[in-house]
Amino acid sequence: MRPDLFTSLISGPCSAESLTQVLQTAEGLQGLPLSYFRAGIWKPRTQPGAFEGIGDTGLAWLVEVRKQFGFKICTEVATAEHVKAAVAHQLDMVWIGARSTVNPFTVQEIAEALQGTDIPVMVKNPVNPDLKLWLGAIERLERHQVKIIGAIHRGFSVYQKTKYRNNPHWQIAIDFKQARPDIPLIMDPSHIGGRAALIAPLAQQALDLHYDGLMVETHCSPADALTDAKQQISPAALIELLGNLAPHSKSDQLLAELSELRDKLSLIDDGLMELLQERMELSKQIGLLKRNHNSPILQVQRWEETLKSTIEKALDADLSPEFAEQFIKMLHEESIRIQLGLLSNKSNEA
Ligand code: PEP
Ligand code: MN
Repeated sequence: MRPDLFTSLISGPCSAESLTQVLQTAEGLQGLPLSYFRAGIWKPRTQPGAFEGIGDTGLAWLVEVRKQFGFKICTEVATAEHVKAAVAHQLDMVWIGARSTVNPFTVQEIAEALQGTDIPVMVKNPVNPDLKLWLGAIERLERHQVKIIGAIHRGFSVYQKTKYRNNPHWQIAIDFKQARPDIPLIMDPSHIGGRAALIAPLAQQALDLHYDGLMVETHCSPADALTDAKQQISPAALIELLGNLAPHSKSDQLLAELSELRDKLSLIDDGLMELLQERMELSKQIGLLKRNHNSPILQVQRWEETLKSTIEKALDADLSPEFAEQFIKMLHEESIRIQLGLLSNKSNEA
């Protein structure tokens, strides 16, 4: 990897599983300008009974990685006890996981435990798409003089199955950068993607969207990993994919800026498509209700009100009323087409 691509690069296994596993993984990462070697010691699992982390024993393994390979070491902390243990082993950094950032009581507990230590901290986004909660967690830590050296974008929980394990909601990351330009923003493609195949395109996107760094889960034998096996890649695979990243040409500033803006535009367009799909799904549900109650499809008064309020909102939003009228008419037409389709199915059934 060109060392100038990202300011920070964090990698290592999702969980520390054995001394051999962490050492072998670290050995594989030796060729990289690693800022920190990571491994989860206490794992927040969705369901009980799964591997919940090796516990304090694993901290000594991380210390061994530091000793043998010279990497700085870090882990996730979620309680005051974790902080105490991490401080006792002189970890070089700790991060706060998505399931902790979401809870102000937990953040408060961690903030109090960290106060007075000089251990730097990174804060993952909360599991729910709430920028204020993310910023609030950071502020809570700062009020206890905790040194925040990075925020980690790891995506947001989803209910439906999607391409990504966690919805990136790119706009939240962009808004984060705007709200806290002083805090480096790092992407965690492993938890966003949830699949090994998505790490490379997401890492490229991190470069295109000017993230300051990456946190990527690597394992010496990904298929055997006790946690997050699908999304872990081997150190060799990480080295290869970082080598294939295409940096923007600095000489062509205009192209870089254009491509950044276009990326943002495409993200918004993707979001629009998802919203349209949701809208048409609702329209179908309304159609079914109308069909079951023999209610007419076109309800003129409701349509006139919708048209009028759309145009008013467009004017408030500095959009052309002609555009808004055309747009809402197209949506309405499509809804009617869908609802008529439901009716014709019914007459076919009869
Ligand atoms: C992790 O990094 O292994 C982890 C548990 O991450 P998150 O808090 O993003 O789920
Ligand atoms: Mn993980």
